[in-house]
Amino acid sequence: MSEKPMYLVLLGAPGAGKGTQAVLLVEKLGLVHVSSGDLFRENIGNKTELGVLAQSYMDRGELVPDGVTIQMVMERLSRPDCVSGVVLDGFPRTLAQAQSLDEALAARGDAIALALYVFVPQDALLRRLSGRWTCRQCKAVYHQEYSPPRHVGVCDVCGGEVYQRPDDMPETQKNRIEVYMRQTEPLIEYYRQAGVLAEVDGRGSVEEVQNMLLQVIRGIG
Ligand code: ADP
Ligand code: AMP
Repeated sequence: MSEKPMYLVLLGAPGAGKGTQAVLLVEKLGLVHVSSGDLFRENIGNKTELGVLAQSYMDRGELVPDGVTIQMVMERLSRPDCVSGVVLDGFPRTLAQAQSLDEALAARGDAIALALYVFVPQDALLRRLSGRWTCRQCKAVYHQEYSPPRHVGVCDVCGGEVYQRPDDMPETQKNRIEVYMRQTEPLIEYYRQAGVLAEVDGRGSVEEVQNMLLQVIRGIG
């Protein structure tokens, strides 16, 4: 891998497997996982002002406004652990976020190396979201059918409580996918125009998708 920090963006609908793949990629590539959804959930857990604001949008499956989202992620990216590079998961989700990210990286002589678009059709997305269970403590992701924890409700990794995210309930799922199609899908074209888009079929097993992602990433190394 090059000396310069590597910035990877994982693009895809809610439930496409971005979080699952990000955890594996950072392990293999020595990068840091930055998930805007996890940052918001941390703020909600700590009852910060940002958390209270974010919750009102997340509960409805809407996007949190750009201003606070960009500020939160930029602050995270400025921390020292991000120097060797980052896998961004769930950010950017709007054109304004993508442009802010490009500008912030350009200001330090960096750029997005790849935007990895993981495609999964809608029926599979709904099945994945309906069965998703998440560890409250370490954020490990399970699926009640495809990859359940060994003991019901208990995280294999840390022993924490495994719960169903409120925004994974059926009423919110559909809206989140619609919001994605309206506000985030245009980023596919944005990154294609920038010459950094790579499309990966997300319908295979976790391992198959991981191998395809690694192949693309190693191809630019
Ligand atoms: P995202 O971060 O894109 O919203 P997640 O990584 O949280 O998606 O995955 C959504 C759900 O789908 C989780 O329950 C996860 O265990 C499951 N999942 C992820 N990748 C796959 C896959 N390749 N095959 C089957 N289920 C998957
Ligand atoms: P996620 O964990 O990526 O599924 O995100 C959960 C929720 O957090 C989303 O439905 C949004 O309400 C909010 N969110 C996460 N990332 C962003 C972002 N980049 N822009 C706006 N809202 C976001």
